[in-house]
Amino acid sequence: MKLVWRLLGFMKPLRGWILISTMTGFSTVAAGVGLLGTSAYLIASAAFHPSIAELSVAVVGVRFLGISRGVFRYLDRLVSHHVNFRLLSILRIWFYDCLKLLAPARLIHYQRGDLLSRAIGDIDTLDQFYVRAVSPVISAIFATVGFSMLVGSWNVRLGWILAAGLSVTSFVLPALVYIFSRGPAKQLVDQRAILSQTMLDTLRGAAEIIVFQQQEEELTQINRVSLQTNRAQVGLAHSQGLSNGMNAVLTQGTVALMLLVGIPLVRTGELDGIMLAVIVLITMASFEISIPIAQAAQFWESSLQAARRLFEMADQQPAIIEPVIPVSVPEKPNILIRNLSFQYHGNLPLAADHLNIDIPYGRKIALVGENGSGKTTILNLLMRFWDCQPGEILIDGIPVQEFSPKELRQRIGYVSPGGAIFQTTLRQNLLLANPGALDADLLRVLDSVQLGEWVQTLPDGLDTWLGASGLTISGGQLQRIQLARGLLMDAPIYLLDEPTTHLDVETETRLISLFRSIFQNRSLVWVTHRLVGLDWLDEILVLDNGRVVERGNQHTLLESRGRFYQLWEIQNRLSLSE
Ligand code: ADP
Repeated sequence: MKLVWRLLGFMKPLRGWILISTMTGFSTVAAGVGLLGTSAYLIASAAFHPSIAELSVAVVGVRFLGISRGVFRYLDRLVSHHVNFRLLSILRIWFYDCLKLLAPARLIHYQRGDLLSRAIGDIDTLDQFYVRAVSPVISAIFATVGFSMLVGSWNVRLGWILAAGLSVTSFVLPALVYIFSRGPAKQLVDQRAILSQTMLDTLRGAAEIIVFQQQEEELTQINRVSLQTNRAQVGLAHSQGLSNGMNAVLTQGTVALMLLVGIPLVRTGELDGIMLAVIVLITMASFEISIPIAQAAQFWESSLQAARRLFEMADQQPAIIEPVIPVSVPEKPNILIRNLSFQYHGNLPLAADHLNIDIPYGRKIALVGENGSGKTTILNLLMRFWDCQPGEILIDGIPVQEFSPKELRQRIGYVSPGGAIFQTTLRQNLLLANPGALDADLLRVLDSVQLGEWVQTLPDGLDTWLGASGLTISGGQLQRIQLARGLLMDAPIYLLDEPTTHLDVETETRLISLFRSIFQNRSLVWVTHRLVGLDWLDEILVLDNGRVVERGNQHTLLESRGRFYQLWEIQNRLSLSE
């Protein structure tokens, strides 16, 4: 029940529209019922050959109700869809806001297809929640009470029969359908998520699947998941079919019961014969309200499932807590890392182990070491993707937790190896870092990462479309576009995570020789496993299992013949043997 209230809470801003929509929905059904009732009165009265004047009110009534029914139906659709789309945008913005706080630390464990299915499929399911699950129930409550009272005003017994028939068909039957369709509805939502995950995996790994000749296995897998999804759909269709059949039986049963009770009443003169015709037709028409309710019952469960999945994700505690009143980040931040330790999970070893690093403004340091030694973890903590556990990061003496993560990230140019290239033009990909930048700025940063000549050769220049995940460009170009995007931020601090891994030796050497001027008046933390072009840096930290095992500049480190020297030797031996 808590879930339903929480879901209904999203509709609060739309209260006025929902009221209008309920009124137009009820008016549509009321006009339909009125039309049939008036028509029945007209036809039954005409059988007694009254003067045309006696029928004129009913004739006008039929015309009025016939036209107004169409108008109300139109208004109902218009308003209910307006509510739908507004609800969709409320849900999307809410979910996106939640993801913003959770990314990347809390989202890392979700598969992309699952995330996609929650962000698109589940929200799409919920945007129909009002039109298909809530609105029919509200209209049915109004209609059951209203029509039963109307018929009851002519004959109480018939009024009760209608009330009982409508209640069973509109509320008891859908409740049973709800209970029986709960299983298949849950299964369907889960299966859809698995299906989209499987499809996404297959599409992303298409090249590997072809290379390793795994097409048949992949097809079998997709087939199996599709069949399971179909099975869940068939389960739902069964309960829907059964409910439609029962709905027809109950409607016709109520009409028959009305006649059974009504005919003797006409015989005894307790009820006018014409009114019996009117009541019977009103009864038939009023059951129209129960048809969407049967579907609402099924929809109710898939909506709750979708809501459960969305809330489960949104309710996670973000990995970092934002300050209530943030301190503003200084223009030229001096960073001190003190006694910093960190582990990703309680049962994993420390990824950062009692680190002390000084990065006063303008200092340039490199983090080197083997894979898994904890280099990227330090950048993650500086970016505040995670919070350090024991220990602290101080900016001008103030703990990093007291700054707004958003403002902090605006001051840091972060270039990660997995940085995304979006499916849009080169210009738009670069402008992401600085929307106000001019073309001249874009060309300048591209030039500084050695892509100036390449852009000149592109037929559409900055308007070149980079394609799905930047597939139309090479790994090295992609990496330099990411670097150019970072440089466009013109930030006081830069964190570079392996910015040259995909480059050929010549381009790498040329680019690194430019780093000295590019980062001249900025702080730099450069993560690299290649020990190339480090001679100009203030400090090199050698990491091993999250600990700094050696520190100094290149000259002192080579002289001391320690871990750095060993890594340097291995690298030089390898490059000589190539
Ligand atoms: P490096 O950048 O030196 O290759 P990382 O900082 O990426 O090393 O990783 C340090 C350690 O933390 C490794 O043992 C790695 O497996 C682990 N690690 C990195 N990211 C995560 C994560 N998101 N969840 C759990 N463990 C992680």
